[in-house]
Amino acid sequence: MENHSKVALVTGGARGIGAAIVHKLAAGGFDVLINYKNSSQAANQLAQEVISRYKIKALPCRADVSLFGDVAEMISRVKEEWGRIDVLVNNAGIARDALLARMTEDDWDQVINTNLKGVFNCTKAVLKTMQKQRRGRVINIASVVGQKGQMGQSNYAAAKAGVIAFSKSLALELARWDIKVNVVVPCFTETDMTAQLPAGTREKILANIPSGRPGSPQDVANMVYFLASEEAGYISGQVFNVDCRVV
Ligand code: NAP
Repeated sequence: MENHSKVALVTGGARGIGAAIVHKLAAGGFDVLINYKNSSQAANQLAQEVISRYKIKALPCRADVSLFGDVAEMISRVKEEWGRIDVLVNNAGIARDALLARMTEDDWDQVINTNLKGVFNCTKAVLKTMQKQRRGRVINIASVVGQKGQMGQSNYAAAKAGVIAFSKSLALELARWDIKVNVVVPCFTETDMTAQLPAGTREKILANIPSGRPGSPQDVANMVYFLASEEAGYISGQVFNVDCRVV
């Protein structure tokens, strides 16, 4: 069990893609910290499930990733209790879609603060620990929308494009500490986030996916797991699309 006693923190880990990542990492022997904002019950249930199924340690930990102080407090608690953080998966995200003419300042701020500033807050909070360890993996979840743009999602697209640029810059900064920073780009993946799409949109999106089917949270988790593994030790600053066509 090469990953035994390595610690991974997954933001927004209680449901959707985050929960699949928690399962995959726990199955591979990682101890897991399951960050949540609202889904306290789901986080607790998931922790119990992975503890009993995979015989690893798991801890739900609440923090709103958009708040610098909340995240700093969560990470200092984790460091006190667990001593190390080997893998950070910045997965937490929201969408507040609207054409710019109708987009409110709050739609903009919430999306940027959660999807982009949240990545800054969490990465900054684990940085010293990973530097001291002289190793670490940061895996950021972006979106194909951040690569090609999308009507009605200018806030989300800007945030996710920012995540990609942030990750590439950080990969250069942190190489000397053997901290690898990579991006996973899900395409259309079936979760609560995509369940509310208007009729007809789903078919249009599927027509642009090479394999013609939506992704599953497990498809994304498999890529994250690879990037967290020893086998990915010479990969940094890269962007991995999970079956998205970028046009
Ligand atoms: P989801 O089902 O809507 O889940 C969103 C997750 O983010 C929840 O666990 C939620 O936690 C967490 N979250 C939201 N705001 C938070 C905050 N301020 N602090 C902490 N956690 C917060 O979404 P998903 O589809 O799994 O998406 C996961 C990631 O993949 C996101 O970054 C999303 O942008 C990206 N993505 C998704 C798709 C897709 O098709 N689904 C495609 C491309 C990219 P709580 O429930 O605890 O609030």
